[in-house]
Amino acid sequence: MADEVTSQSNSLEGKVAIVTGGASGIGEATARLFADHGLRVVVIADIQDEKGEHVVTSIGTHRCSYIHCDVANENQVRSMVDWTVQKYGRLDIMFSNAGILNNHQTVLELDLSAMERLFSVNVRGMAACVKHAARVMVERGVRGSIVCTASASASVGGMRHTDYTMSKHAVLGLVRSASRQLGQHGIRVNCVSPSGLATPLLCQAYGMDEDGVEGVFSTLTSLQGLVLKVNHVAEAVLFLASDASAFVTGHNLAVDGGLVSSPHPSQ
Ligand code: NAD
Repeated sequence: MADEVTSQSNSLEGKVAIVTGGASGIGEATARLFADHGLRVVVIADIQDEKGEHVVTSIGTHRCSYIHCDVANENQVRSMVDWTVQKYGRLDIMFSNAGILNNHQTVLELDLSAMERLFSVNVRGMAACVKHAARVMVERGVRGSIVCTASASASVGGMRHTDYTMSKHAVLGLVRSASRQLGQHGIRVNCVSPSGLATPLLCQAYGMDEDGVEGVFSTLTSLQGLVLKVNHVAEAVLFLASDASAFVTGHNLAVDGGLVSSPHPSQ
């Protein structure tokens, strides 16, 4: 008898998820989509407490809770994961998404102290979240799904943001290694790689409003006539988190309108 493929929404019911960086942008959109698809609870972990609490209130406190967690601090990540398991009894999904971006830096301009801070969030923080989510999933025999946010910058060199590009390449290494090691426990590890989209992260780094950022990035993708929004990314995360992707692991799902696979001829 063939195994049935479970639809996205059916497979998410009753599950418990953590979304890091869930107070804003891609994380916030994903937390909302998770809640819409019947997850029992979504725990938002962030450092912007007021924004995080606001997202929780608008989703509903029966479905969502907030915990302060700086992912650069492993003790806070460990406590956040353990708190979730103690309060809700399990952890099925970790969306490790929190990240930061420094201002434009070519290799000649690299500020190594700023690079260290960026690595502490984008690389060490990502690794800590994967490690501690995997730890509790293995301990409890949960066949969970871990999704990380990489970037189109994980696959190509850039003309700027050297440190960010390096950090996102590291996320691919983390996902590929963790997926090989955790497959024996039935735990899947994947990542999404969006191209540029107008969230506070990019607007601040470019010193532009949302329209300005969208204007820049909409000319770069092969897929014309559509602008990348946070919900496009959230839908891809939902697929990787759910059992609809039950046989997908170690994968980097590009959500970039063809930017990496078929760069625009003028670039
Ligand atoms: P955003 O600024 O809207 O959200 C990032 C969230 O991460 C914020 O709520 C912030 O408070 C949180 N955060 C930052 N440092 C943290 C820390 N140390 N601990 C816990 N939380 C922390 O930006 P976004 O665009 O939604 O970014 C989410 C992820 O998407 C990042 O990993 C980013 O690198 C990646 N990404 C963004 C783009 C883009 O163009 N916006 C493209 C590709 C990948």
